[in-house]
Amino acid sequence: MSIRVRFAPSPTGHIHVGNARTALFNYLFAKNMGGKFILRIEDTDLERSTVESENLIYEDLKWLGLDWDEGPIKGGEFGPYRQTERFDIYKKYVDKLLEEGKAYKCFCSKEELEVMKEKALKEGKPPRYNGKCRNLTEEQIQQLENKGLKPSIRFKVEQEEVEVNDIIRGNITFKTDAFGDFIIVRPDGTPVYNFVVVIDDALMKISHVIRGDDHLSNTPKQVLIYNALGFEIPNFAHIPMILGPDHSKLSKRHGDTSVNQFREKGYLPEALFNYLALLSWSHPEEKEILSKEELIKSFTLDRVSKSAAVFDFEKLKWMNGIYIRNKDLVELTKLCIPYLINSGLVSNDYIQENFEKLVKMVESIRDNLEVLSEVSDYLKVYFCMNTDFDDSAKEILGYDTTKSVLVSFKNFVENIDELNEDNYKIAIKEVQKEVKVKGKKLFMAIRVGVSGTTKGPELDKLVVNLGKEEVIKRINQVLNLMGE
Ligand code: GLU
Repeated sequence: MSIRVRFAPSPTGHIHVGNARTALFNYLFAKNMGGKFILRIEDTDLERSTVESENLIYEDLKWLGLDWDEGPIKGGEFGPYRQTERFDIYKKYVDKLLEEGKAYKCFCSKEELEVMKEKALKEGKPPRYNGKCRNLTEEQIQQLENKGLKPSIRFKVEQEEVEVNDIIRGNITFKTDAFGDFIIVRPDGTPVYNFVVVIDDALMKISHVIRGDDHLSNTPKQVLIYNALGFEIPNFAHIPMILGPDHSKLSKRHGDTSVNQFREKGYLPEALFNYLALLSWSHPEEKEILSKEELIKSFTLDRVSKSAAVFDFEKLKWMNGIYIRNKDLVELTKLCIPYLINSGLVSNDYIQENFEKLVKMVESIRDNLEVLSEVSDYLKVYFCMNTDFDDSAKEILGYDTTKSVLVSFKNFVENIDELNEDNYKIAIKEVQKEVKVKGKKLFMAIRVGVSGTTKGPELDKLVVNLGKEEVIKRINQVLNLMGE
């Protein structure tokens, strides 16, 4: 069997992380099996679908590194890959079902359907269609159409039960009286999801339908249509949903939930890729930091769990920090630039002239950085000295040795040509000898002396990157404030 899977988003906005995880599982499965990953745009909901959203989807997928083998833009043998361009194809199959008596025209008005629904609910039954138009004669249909009434088309459900075989969930039997004869074409002529998805998956030769289990209840309807049209039923794998930290369905109120929000915050695509792969899937050796190649190599559907995954924002952040630390430093600096400019910390001109310096600054804070958007906060110390001392800085300034440490360190710096990591180390030793302090009393004193705070970049790098003049200037400023 040739492996063909698809990701089939509706273009209504940026990709939600839940859908991104679905795309990712499809992608990993296809690549692991040497199959094809197909992108299909499900835009039959004309009111909600927009071309802009379609472009956002392409952008999000490309950023995450989920390139598709067939789909819009790329094309492929089984196109078109946008449902609104396939209406003629769907029509053929609607006609076939009508001709074979497997579907029928239904003229019931919205109001009538509403009454039916209320009655069923009152009787404690599932609100399904009562079959009123099931047996209309040709003549009756003609008369109603002559009146200008536009029918919907309903699929005739004749089985009592449908069995769905799911790779993740096992075999599930659905009772059809939960839904009854369902609509496949709306009165305005647009076919519905449950119908078109079957035609598309069948004609695009999809071997495995891997999607969120919010679609599980749609699957029996789809199985009925596969059977009615004589199509082979694909393998289904319904993946469990993603929960927020409070164990309710992950949604906006939990914070960032769409791919672009993570992108904007400064998550690296490879980190999000890695993190999403671990939501309801685990590596056979329980490894957590996995490159795209490793994930492709080890991904199998039998390791997808039945239980929902909890989205752990902190863990994603931690993982992003690891990817940041492993990133090439120049690359990382380039990725930080938009954040530095947006925050107003530096200008384009500054970056042009001081790129090398900037790389060194980023190096000095890289171990602290977990998301790129934090970079301006961390680098601020290079551009302005903090003199609004907080309690911990005041504590350091209050030590009786601090002033001597600063004076001694400053004297040393004044007597060298240029600060570098080697003479910084010598300076520290000299101060230590002269003032006879070590540890916090030595290092924190210098840190507060050159930055005004107790936290920040690695101290040796901070001092060297600030340079001789700036270090002297800052220490003088602190000494002055201390009442020199
Ligand atoms: N357009 C559907 C969605 O976005 C796709 C469902 C499916 O994969 O069949 O949820």
